[in-house]
Amino acid sequence: MTDSELALARQRMVAEQLAARGIRDTRVLAAMARLPREQFIGAAQRERAYEDSPLPIGSGQTISQPWIVARMLELASLMPNDRVLEVGAGSGYQAALLSGLVREVFAIERIAALADTAKDRLRIYPNVQLGIFDGTYGWAEHAPYDAILVAAGAPAVPTLLADQLAEGGRLVIPVGPRGQQRLGRILRAGDHFTTTWDTGCTFVDLVGRFGWGGEGPGLA
Ligand code: SAH
Repeated sequence: MTDSELALARQRMVAEQLAARGIRDTRVLAAMARLPREQFIGAAQRERAYEDSPLPIGSGQTISQPWIVARMLELASLMPNDRVLEVGAGSGYQAALLSGLVREVFAIERIAALADTAKDRLRIYPNVQLGIFDGTYGWAEHAPYDAILVAAGAPAVPTLLADQLAEGGRLVIPVGPRGQQRLGRILRAGDHFTTTWDTGCTFVDLVGRFGWGGEGPGLA
């Protein structure tokens, strides 16, 4: 596919997969209409860049389906001045989208091979910082965050992430048993946290001390 064919496929994705299926946030739609998804996947997947599905990015991980990326961004109710944490940077695609939507982005990826590639791709986005460690601890050094997006499925909500929300902050996270999570939106008001549940979804595992493999105190 040529660049202009891909650009056309991208506009079609926004209209048919996102807007037609309920994504209303115009800033999110514009960001996804602008950013080439093909730049965040390997050359072998280029033809599939705008398919309505997740795609493999190596190390057994995936770049999420465009609709679910849009829904997470929409549920985060992002404002231009926000500081945002992303757990599970993977390809860097969602971090690059966030770069255009908010003031500062902190992204964490636990798999070094993916993080190194994402770091290269994100070099041209000066308001994005990428850390390589277990994101179930959050990133206390830069907290609090107006929004936290978790791009991997958790057995329960890691309390350290909720604690790093600013007043009025939103945590968007897939929660539930493997292969059948629901997207949760946790809103902070003082020391009070209110959870609402959105769409069902299927994410790769959030692996870490307060995710899969490390279950114990610290999960709400
Ligand atoms: N937002 C990504 C989607 C990546 S899939 C994108 O736009 O491409 C989820 C990613 O979460 C995987 O790369 C996986 O390695 C990572 N991950 C899983 N558990 C993690 C943890 N505890 N800390 C940081 N990253 C984690």
